[in-house]
Amino acid sequence: METRWAYTSSYNFPKLREAAGRTCVIPMGCIEKHGLHDPLGTDIIKASHIAYKASQIETVCVFPDFTFGDTPFGAHTKRPEGSICLDVRIQMGLLEALCDEIAENGFNKILVLNCHGGNVAWLDAFERNLGVKPHKFVFGYLRVSDLMTPHTMAEYILKNGSGSIPELTAEDEELVIKYHKEDMLCGHACMGETAYIMGIAPESVDLDMLGRESGLPQESPIKHLTDVGIVTDSYDWFRTFPNWYEGHDPVGCNERIGRAAVRLESERIAAAFKLYKEDKAFVETMKELYKEPSILD
Ligand SMILES: [Zn+2]
Repeated sequence: METRWAYTSSYNFPKLREAAGRTCVIPMGCIEKHGLHDPLGTDIIKASHIAYKASQIETVCVFPDFTFGDTPFGAHTKRPEGSICLDVRIQMGLLEALCDEIAENGFNKILVLNCHGGNVAWLDAFERNLGVKPHKFVFGYLRVSDLMTPHTMAEYILKNGSGSIPELTAEDEELVIKYHKEDMLCGHACMGETAYIMGIAPESVDLDMLGRESGLPQESPIKHLTDVGIVTDSYDWFRTFPNWYEGHDPVGCNERIGRAAVRLESERIAAAFKLYKEDKAFVETMKELYKEPSILD
């Protein structure tokens, strides 16, 4: 069935809510540089697509994209072309208002599928802050989606044997296992993220741009501070990876590997959706806490 909120008519909406077990998923990403080869919207493109694919395996309602995540630069900084940087308080306020609206429409379980590491800090604060007043929903988020390629995918092939991922040729398997054995660095605009975009919107990837900027770490000039456990600011990742690129070049990545990564990750996420949807303990324990438990009915 159609699982996307925005593509569902008002008439069909109650049927979707019921089939979803009153569970609504919000895809979340950001708009920021992903090396020179991946698109600015890499994180929200994969969150949106994988949330939808997974919802076709395990029915949940997929809310319109929460596109604008936290990238820790403002207009006063020299940031790459195309970045969108909002005050994090706007994001927290918007997310809470949207969750309240989702609950007004009859959902009592909300889950964010987050595909941007920079959102984790404020999502933790958001969850903490939800507790200061009653809400008609319980809220959870998946910390960040698995990069899948090459490491998880290689482990899958090594465990289940050659041919176990039907999308791949023998050369593809060889490439994925080679990068896994070489302990390829992955993190941002890496083999993992590049594969997802190749599986979703291959025309948005330009592998010819590889080699112009490095994705390998540089020593942060304030490493002596972070080494003793001093947390300085959210810019520190950028001191280590100033090209907004963390990873060895994903040379040889292709659409087949991308489609396999998207399918495997969608299946993994669908299993998480099922657990969250069928779980009763989360709502029940919140009801025990509330002075007026009927708010969660
Ligand atoms: Zn990303």
